[in-house]
Formats: sequence, C-alpha cells, structure tokens
Amino acid sequence: MTRVRLLVFNPALSVLDYRLPAGMAIEFGAVVLAPLGPRQVLGIVWEPDRLEGTEVPDSKLRPILEVLPAPPLPAPLRRLIEWCADYYCAPMNAVARMALGSMAALRGGGTTTEYRLSGLEPQRLTPQRAAAMDALHGEQASIRELAELASVSEGVLRGMVGAGILEPVSVDLDRPYPRARADFAIPALEPDQQAAADTFVGAVRAEEFAPFLLDGVTGSGKTECYFEAVAEAIRMQRQVLVLLPEIALTENFLRRFEARFGVPPVLWHSSLKQSERRRAWRAIVSGEAQVVVGARSALFMPYKALGLIVIDEAHEVSFKQDDGVRYNARDVAVIRARFEQIPVILASATPALESLQLAEAGVYAKIDLPARFGGAELPAIDVLDLRDEPPERGRWLAPRLVAEMRLRLERGEQSLLFLNRRGYAPLTLCRHCGYRFQCPNCSAWLVEHRLSRRLACHHCGHEVPVPEACPECHTSDCLVACGPGVERIADEVAEVLPEARIAVVTSDTLNSPEKISAFVEAAEGKLIDVIIGTQLVTKGYHFPELTLVGVVDADLGLEGGDLRAGERTYQQIAQVAGRAGRGEKPGTVIIQTRHPEAAVIAALSAGDRDAFYTAEAEARRDAGAPPFGRWAAIIVSSEDEAEARMAARAIGGAAPDLPDVLVLGPAPAPLALLRGRHRYRLLINARRSAQLQDIIRGWLGTLSFPPGVRVNIDIDPYSFV
Ligand code: ADP
Ligand code: ZN
Repeated sequence: MTRVRLLVFNPALSVLDYRLPAGMAIEFGAVVLAPLGPRQVLGIVWEPDRLEGTEVPDSKLRPILEVLPAPPLPAPLRRLIEWCADYYCAPMNAVARMALGSMAALRGGGTTTEYRLSGLEPQRLTPQRAAAMDALHGEQASIRELAELASVSEGVLRGMVGAGILEPVSVDLDRPYPRARADFAIPALEPDQQAAADTFVGAVRAEEFAPFLLDGVTGSGKTECYFEAVAEAIRMQRQVLVLLPEIALTENFLRRFEARFGVPPVLWHSSLKQSERRRAWRAIVSGEAQVVVGARSALFMPYKALGLIVIDEAHEVSFKQDDGVRYNARDVAVIRARFEQIPVILASATPALESLQLAEAGVYAKIDLPARFGGAELPAIDVLDLRDEPPERGRWLAPRLVAEMRLRLERGEQSLLFLNRRGYAPLTLCRHCGYRFQCPNCSAWLVEHRLSRRLACHHCGHEVPVPEACPECHTSDCLVACGPGVERIADEVAEVLPEARIAVVTSDTLNSPEKISAFVEAAEGKLIDVIIGTQLVTKGYHFPELTLVGVVDADLGLEGGDLRAGERTYQQIAQVAGRAGRGEKPGTVIIQTRHPEAAVIAALSAGDRDAFYTAEAEARRDAGAPPFGRWAAIIVSSEDEAEARMAARAIGGAAPDLPDVLVLGPAPAPLALLRGRHRYRLLINARRSAQLQDIIRGWLGTLSFPPGVRVNIDIDPYSFV
C-alpha cells in the first residue's frame, strides 16, 4: 500500500492523500489527476513530511487516476514554491499554479488547430463578417482568440469557417525553436565591461549560487556584459531566464538579442496566444528553450536545466505583483537562484536601496560600470524653477524649455518630454456647477482621453464617452480639463513648434509589438522630432540623436507620501535623463520643478547619487522602513462598506501586543473604493528581528469573516494605496 500526498488545485482543499494503484510509477513533483467527489482534480505529488494534511485511514483512500505526460516539477522548484507560500503568506497551490502551463500543455504536445483568412472574397457579406475580415487581416489564432480580436462572437467565426472564408491550419506544438548561437556576434568589450563579463562567465561555469548587483550608469552597456554570461550558459547547454519589467521593453531587447545570438529568444508573457504558450511551456520543461525572456510570471516555470537568471532594470516596481500571490519577482529570483545553485544578476543604473544595502553587507557581489560606452558623456542636468520662470497661462512648458526644444528642432536633433500621466487631463469638471467626473467603482477621477474621446478610470477600466453637457446641471460646453496629461502636452508642443513631428508614447498608444517597433524605427530614422511619454519611455531606448530631455513636472511623483516616493522619483528622472546624449552629441536635461530644494532634485542636479542614497537611507533608518525594518499590509475589502469596516475593526482589535511590532490602523485605504469594493487597511511595521509572517498567521488564524469579505496580506508592500 502506497500513500501519496498531493497538493491539489482546489480553493477549499489544498492537501489530500490518495492511494497509488498497482503498476503506476510516480515521482515527487509529478503532475497527476485524482478523483474529488464526482469530479477530477489536478494535483502535484509532494513529500508528505513537507506538507501538512489530515490523516485519512488507508482504507478510505481513493486511487490516483493518471500521471500526466509532463516532467515532474524538480525539487528546487518545489522548495521555491514552499518558500514563497511561507514568506508571502499565500496558499501553496496558488503559488504552484504559476509553475504549470495550461491543462492542454500538461496533456502533451502534438498539434492544435488555428484559423486564418483563406483569401476567399465572397460577393456578399453581412456587416459583421465584413468587419471581422478587416480585423483579422494577417492574424492566425484559435477561434476564441480571433473572436476577441475581431470583437465578434465565436458563432460568427464558425459560420465563416463553414463558408470557407476562414481556413484551418494545423500548428505543431513541438516544432523546435531556432538554436541560439553563443558565438554569433561577439562584441569587442571595453576593459570595464570585459572584467564584468569575465566575472559573470566564471560564475556560470562554477554552477553555484552567486548573486550579483550590476550597477552601471545608463548607456554603460550592461546588456553587452550579461550577454556574455548568457552565451556561456548556452555553450554549457544550461537555460537562461531574463526578466524584464515590462512587455513594452521586450521589442528593443529582442532586436539586440538577435543581433548577438542570431535568433530571437523564447518569449513568455501574459499576452501570448494559447498555442504559443503551450509551445513555450513545453520547450521550457524539455530544456529545448535556451533563453527565455519574460515578465515576472516566467519566474515560476519548471525549467529543466536553469543555469542563470538575469533581472534587467531590477529596481522597477513592476516586479512586484499586487494581486493574486503578492510577491516580488526580484526577490523571488534570488531565492530561486539559491535553490537552483546558479548565479543571478540584478542589473540597474539606479538600484533599489534594498539591493544596494545587500551589496554593502556583502550578500551581493557588486560590479560597477561607472562610464558610458564609447566615451559618451552623461548629460548635464539643469533645474528650472517654475516659480522664477513660469509657463504662460494655461501652458505647462516654461519658455526656456521651449527655446531649447526649438534649438534641437533647428539642428535636426530630437527632444523627449517626460510626464508620467496618460491621457489629456487627470480631472474634468463643470465650470458652471463644479461637478467632477468620478469613477462609480473607485475613489478616483476619470481621466480624459481626447484621442479616444472618452473619460476613463485607470484603476478599473470604466469608460464613458465625453458628454456634451454636464450630467449634473445640464449646461453644455461647460466642461474644463484640469491639469496636464501627455496628450495635452502634445497639443501644446504642436502650438509652440508647429513644424515639429510629435509622437506620444504611452501604454495607450504603444499597445502592441508592431506599434512599438514602428515607433522605434521612426525615432531611429529621425521621423520624429519630439517624443512625449510616460514612464514607458524612461528606459531601454537608445536614440543617438536625442539630445534634450525635459521633465515636465518633477514634483508629481513626490506627492502622495508613499514610502518610496523619493526613491522612485530619483530613479525615474535619472533613467529618463539617461536617454539624452547617448550618441556622439552631448545631452542636456531640464527638470521643471517648484521645489528645487527637495533632496531628490538637489541630488539629481549635482549628479550626486551617493548623496541621495545616503540621505534616503538615513530617513528610512529613522522610520524603521526597509531595508532597516519591515512593513506588511493587511487589506480588508467587501462590496459592503459596513462589513469591510467591521472586519477591519475585528482584525485591529485582535492585534498582537509585541515590543518589536507596531500596528497602525485600521483606516480607510487611500483608495477607499476599488472596483466596487470598499477597502480598509492596517499597516504593520516590524523590526527585522520579528517573525513577521508567523505573527500575522497566528493573529489572523483565530478570526473568521463573512463570505463577502476578502483579507489580503501584502508582505513588503510597494503600493500603500
Ligand atoms: P545600459 O543598458 O547600461 O543603459 P546598453 O546596454 O543599452 O546600456 O548600451 C548602450 C549602447 O551602447 C547600446 O546601443 C549598446 O549596443 C552599445 N554598446 C555597449 N557596449 C558595447 C560594446 N562593447 N560594443 C559595441 N556596442 C556597445
Ligand atoms: Zn474605476
């Protein structure tokens, strides 16, 4: 009789014991199907001593049904899943879920069917079919995906298959990826770069845990350095994972990767289509995928032979996931590298204070690249005090910034304006009665998007067309836009520099790989004079003719009292400044501010990064904030305000009284209403000595809540809203 313990994917029950039927062989980590009531449940075979379950007598055990034809999750990955569940106070099956592909991928490779336009042009078409034909030009995907793309029902598309307008195509899920060539185009490295690359190559060869902080100024060629380590892993037939903070950055990365290794890497992110996901997942588990580039979700994949992890732009806050399992991919990557016994490289020009601290403590080896590649100079930084040099009424760009932009235009060079605000204006109100457009589901203003003529909530996606008249007092033509977004700045530039060719770069305008490449090509081909963008343009891009960067409102990020506001502002401005003067021509940065005396602005203008980090570290030490102390948040939400408030009070009332733990709240969260749920928040500030997670588990474990209440724990939170 063999008893098998499973971690199962069921929200209510997560650990169940089964019997191994005679003749079935099984390993720890195997993915299996087992009976649960009248249905079947997916499970992973786990070490029984590492997973607490209830003891069911042998006689009551039901047999496992089937072992799926996917390799077992390797032991280091199982340890990582346990670690994450424990550290982030998350259900273990929710963490493990991130390691598995779709059911279809687990079932094996083979072929799947996709559809595309057959080229048949019927004489008469229903308007729906005609619209679908337009939308599906050049696309090939499953019926469901095509229906989404074309915004028609699957029924319409099935009808089109029947009529021969769409044709089936058989897709081989196991068709191999082209092989990357380690020696395709080896660059000539500068001495600093070579030293860094040698260190990384040595670490890959050593096959041991080795965390690095690659701290190099913008334009120093960090990518070139870690590519040498990637090349070594490829030679050794080990896999590499490169994590990027945003899909928008991959486009640029792909070109550089291809130039170095001859072929593109394997991509993994949320907007892959089904067949691509299945193919990528299977190549990852078989070891065939040599280099995987992805967003944070690529971190939990069951790589067969991982040999190196790189986290590019490691300071980016988007590595922190804020829903589902709330984990920080940067930190989990280091833990994974430890379990896998491999090197991990955190690359950044503006590392997080936490990372610098770990380097200082000797936990990370710090590798510096202090100079730009090819002798390019870092740009000169000029602080423009808006109180002394105000823009004209109703405008946002000071005359001197405009004059500098005009100069660039005359010289045929490019300017970049940075404002981290999508849309036209962050608030719209009625001049007549004062009515403000607010989201019905969130405590947030609706943002006007003039390009799409809509008012949109950036939290929940709620959208309405911009009305003719005020919904409150019904006066027409009385709505006024308050404050600028990038679209409004674009209008202003069009007025003051009418001959300039302008590109607005935000997640609204660059929402597909095609649009991103088109933008990069246009910018490189000097078809754009002025780029106006959100944080999307702050990193990754390398435009040699870009010689002026203007920061429209440096004070914006400092509002809101977020723990990391200062650091984030510093990073954003330093990164966007890093886009200037990357070629032969020197760059200039103009920072518009009303607070030139703020520590962040002063450090930026003096080019004194150390001064900023030292002051920031002092402030954090005083506040007991990370990395010197720890924070956790408990967020209580419900569609019912009173229910959320009562639950939050109950949690507050049961708070432990401990010397090294301080509990603040409950209080309404700054975003008191989000997607229709009322939110209360408790903040926990603890000394490093406190067993924070055990304390929280013990504290919440004694309480129970009505079914409509959600209690989320956020360990090391980034968002304080
Ligand atoms: P960072 O990521 O540090 O900001 P990049 O890796 O983007 O810097 O490098 C800046 C530019 O310099 C890129 O266009 C890159 O291709 C180029 N570059 C850096 N090092 C070399 C090198 N050794 N040989 C050729 N080009 C290089
Ligand atoms: Zn909303």
